[in-house]
Amino acid sequence: MKALVYHGPGKKAWEERPKPGLQQATDAIVKVARTTICGTDLHILKGDVPEVTDGRILGHEGLGVVEEVGSGVSSFKKGDRVLISCITSCGKCPACKKAMYSHCQNGGGWILGHLIDGTQAEYVRIPYADTSLYAVPKGVDEDALVMLSDILPTGFEVGVLNGKVKPGDTVAIVGGGPVGLAALLTAQFFSPAELIMVDLDDNRLEVAKKLGATKVVNSGDGKAAEKVLALTGGEGVDVAIEAVGIPATFDICQDIVTAGGHVANVGVHGKPVSLKLEKLWIQNVTITTGLVDTNTTPMLLKNVVASRLEPKKLITHTFALDDVLKAYDTFANAAKEKALKVILRASA
Ligand SMILES: [Zn+2]
Ligand SMILES: [Zn+2]
Repeated sequence: MKALVYHGPGKKAWEERPKPGLQQATDAIVKVARTTICGTDLHILKGDVPEVTDGRILGHEGLGVVEEVGSGVSSFKKGDRVLISCITSCGKCPACKKAMYSHCQNGGGWILGHLIDGTQAEYVRIPYADTSLYAVPKGVDEDALVMLSDILPTGFEVGVLNGKVKPGDTVAIVGGGPVGLAALLTAQFFSPAELIMVDLDDNRLEVAKKLGATKVVNSGDGKAAEKVLALTGGEGVDVAIEAVGIPATFDICQDIVTAGGHVANVGVHGKPVSLKLEKLWIQNVTITTGLVDTNTTPMLLKNVVASRLEPKKLITHTFALDDVLKAYDTFANAAKEKALKVILRASA
């Protein structure tokens, strides 16, 4: 089969690899029908994730058709169309029993395209298939569903739920990439009064307005915090969602959160940030962190089926799976290409 293989920092190739086989009774082999590229894949290619070694097939998002299941798989059979979760879960360990699947103690968590071969390939092996795959409902848009592998649950769980967004809240989302926009879409479940999007890129701010942002702030002049405070009459925001992962954007969140508010960190940080505890100690502020657990995926699926949530709006480009290298070029030049999510389609 063909697969997108990581060969060390800066190096990747679309090349021939052996088709995966079952290794455990709880495995399934899935023929990939749709996959996508995540910002995390770009981090891996920069060498920021040293756990990913030379020869690893990348990708942790996708949807496909079950090709083969092990004897221990009871919920799926050959021919079933399935959504692949970015988080693998055994469903049995203490962490999984707490619905903290990202910390699965039996070798699950984020492993696809990280510690084991991933979804940017013609076939992928999915461990713990019963608890890591979701049946694709009939008649639903499959491109849209791929957004539920990772970015929708990430924006919702780590941003909106950890941030405790409530009706009437003023919410700022710092970072209008796909995950920030996923937080913007899912924050609307709770009817906040104001949804302020902060980003450097005017195109992304325009998209954010179309997806429900009530106000937008371009942070290019380094004055985003002042601007957000001005927009809120000096009050600041109830919830600041950090969706970039650099010190400057975390600082904006610390500077704009109001007393009793929440800073929900979603961004993947590569460098330390300084915590302004000398200002925050008196503010009754809660700061949360997290990796997505995907325990909300069944709920999000229902809302997509009911058209209450339209993640398809995050897809800007479509490529054939064979053109994955072109898709990487487009996604890596997101600002120039006006790219959010790219979909890769295979023939399945
Ligand atoms: Zn991802
Ligand atoms: Zn587990």
